[in-house]
Amino acid sequence: MRTIAVMNQKGGVGKTTSSVNLAAGLARQGRRVCLIDLDPQAHASLHLGVEVASGAHSIYQVFAGARGFNDICQMVGQNLWLAPSDLDLAATELELVDAQGREFILRTALQTAAAYEKFDYIIMDCPPSLGVLTINSLSSASEVFIPLQPHFFALQGLSKLFETTALVARRLNRNLKVTGIMLCLYETGTRLAGDVTDDLMMFLNGSDPHAPWAQAKVFQSRIRRNIKLAEAPSHGQSIFDYAAGSTGSQDYQNLVQEVIAAEAALSGGQTRAAA
Ligand code: ADP
Ligand code: MG
Repeated sequence: MRTIAVMNQKGGVGKTTSSVNLAAGLARQGRRVCLIDLDPQAHASLHLGVEVASGAHSIYQVFAGARGFNDICQMVGQNLWLAPSDLDLAATELELVDAQGREFILRTALQTAAAYEKFDYIIMDCPPSLGVLTINSLSSASEVFIPLQPHFFALQGLSKLFETTALVARRLNRNLKVTGIMLCLYETGTRLAGDVTDDLMMFLNGSDPHAPWAQAKVFQSRIRRNIKLAEAPSHGQSIFDYAAGSTGSQDYQNLVQEVIAAEAALSGGQTRAAA
């Protein structure tokens, strides 16, 4: 069982595209996957063809204490469930400002719904901020995947992300680790992409072995820029359904295989490896 927060406080780096296509790709490989949309913009929900009217069942109601997680979770495909978001979620940051234990609302809801037992993967698409929704995601997760667009300032943002993860790991969730960095919107063959990738590897290799990101691995699969990935959301389909033969589909399929390959190491090297 893996719970993965897909996080980066910057917008437009590939969080939603990666969350949706990872979730869909893992489901196609027979894993039971729940995707939680934590962004009030609800792009992940729309990407899977789900539009929630204001007031209807969504993750907002879980944060508001109005419904349980199972009530708002819906099946959207074989092995694939979605906890959709809607614009109401934008109010959550303010509504919870004084709430006691506000960092743990999601974790408690997932525990109450036995979600950690029901799914093989819970994948959380975080909003582009480090507010209460992202903190809830981090306190519910065991892993963080960071999508990164290789450009000159990418590494600066990364240290802020690492600091936040370290803080949450220290105060709220000792199990939390950054385990994956996904290079998204990758421009193959450009010098910049190669340089940033090299810098990133150097930075990781040189970091404190006890830091929560010390085991972070830069996925081999690079997610190249591919127009099909940008088109798929408006069709309400994952890349595998929308454009199976595209480079976008190949890149995410490779990423899915790498994520699956890590299962054996995480579960102590037995069960899944034999499957
Ligand atoms: P975030 O969730 O971090 O804001 P998105 O995943 O929504 O980022 O991506 C931002 C925009 O870029 C979206 O319009 C998305 O469709 C597009 N996009 C993401 N990844 C790719 C890619 N590899 N190739 C082309 N377009 C992409
Ligand atoms: Mg997004």
